Amino acid sequence: MPNIIEDLFKIFLNNPDFDLSLDEIRKKYGDSVLKPKDEINKITSRFYEILYQKPKSKCFHPNSKECSGKPIKSHSIQKSLISVLADSTRHVLMFKADFTTHQRPKASIEKIGISKATIYPGLCSKHDFETFEPIENNPIDILNKEHNFLFSYRALLKQYFVKNHFYEVFKKIADLCSKGQNKDEAVLIPLVIIAYNHYLGVFHINKIKSLFDHSLLTKKFDIFLDYGVRVINQFIPISVCSAFTPIYDVNHNILNDFKNYKETPKYVFLNFVPTKSKTYLFYSTLKSQTKELKGFVEPLENLKIEKLYDYLSEIILKYTENFIMSPDYWKIFSEKKKGAIIKFYNDTVFDPKIRYNSRLHNIFNE
Ligand SMILES: [Zn+2]
Repeated sequence: MPNIIEDLFKIFLNNPDFDLSLDEIRKKYGDSVLKPKDEINKITSRFYEILYQKPKSKCFHPNSKECSGKPIKSHSIQKSLISVLADSTRHVLMFKADFTTHQRPKASIEKIGISKATIYPGLCSKHDFETFEPIENNPIDILNKEHNFLFSYRALLKQYFVKNHFYEVFKKIADLCSKGQNKDEAVLIPLVIIAYNHYLGVFHINKIKSLFDHSLLTKKFDIFLDYGVRVINQFIPISVCSAFTPIYDVNHNILNDFKNYKETPKYVFLNFVPTKSKTYLFYSTLKSQTKELKGFVEPLENLKIEKLYDYLSEIILKYTENFIMSPDYWKIFSEKKKGAIIKFYNDTVFDPKIRYNSRLHNIFNE
C-alpha cells in the first residue's frame, strides 16, 4: 500500500467524519472537499475497468498449502441445482448489479448459461470437490450438521471473495490516483475512505472465515454457528446462496450501522435450495451474534408460509446479490410486476429503508 494512503488512513482514524458516505460529505462540505460529479465519474469509469480485470486469487481452503493453489470457477450454487432451474436452452436468470454504465451500478436480470451462472474463483478443484462432496452427491439431510454447515460455508466463501476483490480494486484505484494526474486530495480522500471501508470489510470477514475454517477442519460444525431450517413442501424455482449483513429487522431496529469500525458486522448466511418435491431454506448466524439478530431470524422460523414468502421476497431482493431464477418462472409475472421487482432490487441497494410492497414485490406469488 502506498505510504500516502497509509498516512491518510491515520488521519481518518482520528477524524470523527471518516465514516461519512460520499453523499453526506458532499452535503456537509460541498465541492470544497469533493470534486464535481464528472470528476468522480471519470474515476468511477476507471474503477469499472479495473473491476473487470481478472482477479488473481489463490485457493481459499485453509489447507491451501497442500494444493496447487489455483482456484477453479466454483459454483456458489451447486451445478445440479442450477440445471434444475434452467429452461430448455440450459439458461437461468441471474439478478445482478450492472456495472456497464459510468454512473452508479444499475441492477439487471441476465439470462446466463448454466456453466457460467454464479461462478467465482473460490477453491481449487481438489478442495472444491472434497469440501462440498457431502451436499453435491447426497440427498439433503436437514438433521445433518455438516450439510447445514456446508451451505453456510459456501455462502461465506463467495462473500469472502467479493470483499477481498473490492478491497483490491479500490486499493489499486487509490494507488493510481495518488500517482497519476488526479493527484488531488479532493479525489483521493473519498477514495481512501471507500478503500478503508473495504479494508475493514476484509478484516472482519477474515476473522469470521477463520472460525468457519476451524469448524471445517475439526468437523465440529456447531461450535460457532446456530442453524435453522424450514422445509417447504413444493418445488420453488428460485435459488439463493448468500452471506449478508442486514441493516434492519422487521421492527426497523438497526442491526448493522457500520459506525463502529471495530465491531464485527452481523452476518446472516442464507440458502434457498429447491429440489424436485421440496424446497429447503437453510439459515445460520454466528453464535456470538444470534441474540442481536433475533429480530431478523425469528420470523424465518415462525412465520406462516404466505407471510414467510413476503418476508423472504423482501430479504432476497434487498440483501442478497447471488440469486437465480428459472426463466420459465419469471414469465408468469406481468410486465408491470417485473418492472417493480427490478426497481425494488436496484433501489434498495442504495436505500434499504424503501418499503416492501407485497402486491408488487412478492417473488413467490404472481
Ligand atoms: Zn486448494
